[in-house]
Amino acid sequence: MIDLTDHQALVNRIRERDIRAVAKAMSALEDDPSFAPQFIPALTPYYEKKPRLGITGSPGVGKSTVANRLVQELRAQDQRVGVVAVDPTSPFSGGAILGDRVRMVGVQNDPQVYIRSLGSRGSLGGLSAATANIVRVLETFGVDTVIIETVGMGQTGFDIVDIADTVVLILSPESGDGVQTMKAGVMEVADIYAVNKADRPGADGLATEIKSLLGMVDGRLQWVPPVLTMSAVDDTGVCEILGYFSEHLSFLTEHGLVADKRRRQLANEIRFLVESRIKGYMLEDARHKASLRELAAKVEARELDTYAAADAVCAMIMRSLAEDITDAKT
Ligand code: GDP
Repeated sequence: MIDLTDHQALVNRIRERDIRAVAKAMSALEDDPSFAPQFIPALTPYYEKKPRLGITGSPGVGKSTVANRLVQELRAQDQRVGVVAVDPTSPFSGGAILGDRVRMVGVQNDPQVYIRSLGSRGSLGGLSAATANIVRVLETFGVDTVIIETVGMGQTGFDIVDIADTVVLILSPESGDGVQTMKAGVMEVADIYAVNKADRPGADGLATEIKSLLGMVDGRLQWVPPVLTMSAVDDTGVCEILGYFSEHLSFLTEHGLVADKRRRQLANEIRFLVESRIKGYMLEDARHKASLRELAAKVEARELDTYAAADAVCAMIMRSLAEDITDAKT
């Protein structure tokens, strides 16, 4: 029996590599919002961050195929690998049905590979706080490398760049959105660009276009992202990603950027938790919903203006937060 309320015992079992405890903790992190605030304090002294590779890109560009190949390569290097797939179109995702994972060729029965699929929770792109915590569980469990696969940027403001050390943006000549996406700001997030499906026409042209775009912003970037071309189905070029992943990690270390990057990521995670909490009060707390309707009625009757009403809501949320924090402490 795994007792989800005995957080210390659960952490111990994860550290002892009890796969059932890992799965239980991950499900609770994903499904029960009240679990993480209790469990994460128990886990925090024990997890040790491991190299984290983010793989992102539009649906269909080949993220899963590439991830699959990289896992095989890391296994050949005798590494333990954790994969977290947040892509709703990924064969790993969509409810974590075993059958969905069949395409992890040759690794699905490997106990040294732990694959976790996360539902997208309705939104395309963006990560949940659970994603960061699930990565922490994998690291406590004892993987050597974590691969996080996700479809592009989302609305949540908490993204792959806030979790991964190195982000690979995969594009393909046929996805068509490549350079447009980059112009729209994705440019700054990727540390490695990978043009996949080089067995199809247009890959070299796309790579050249990306290189010239990167050339334009070169002066602002400390790390010059490599632009790779590869074919995941033909298995050409894919594993170069791992070489550049190591190079990027060394770059961060050599330039003293590791702590700063990590702090920025954690600051963003904390900000995201605060925002989610405040949104929770606004949208889910019945008391606040009722008050909001009352305030709206007052504004309609011109007894209040919209700004005074917003002030009243802010004050109410602050009181609720203070009360809840005091309750949690006692
Ligand atoms: P994802 O949605 O980004 O995870 O993409 P998938 O890995 O599921 O791949 C989408 C489709 O593209 C699948 O049918 C793959 O077999 C195919 N695919 C992946 N890599 C390549 C490649 O290098 N060349 C070609 N021609 N097809 C590929």
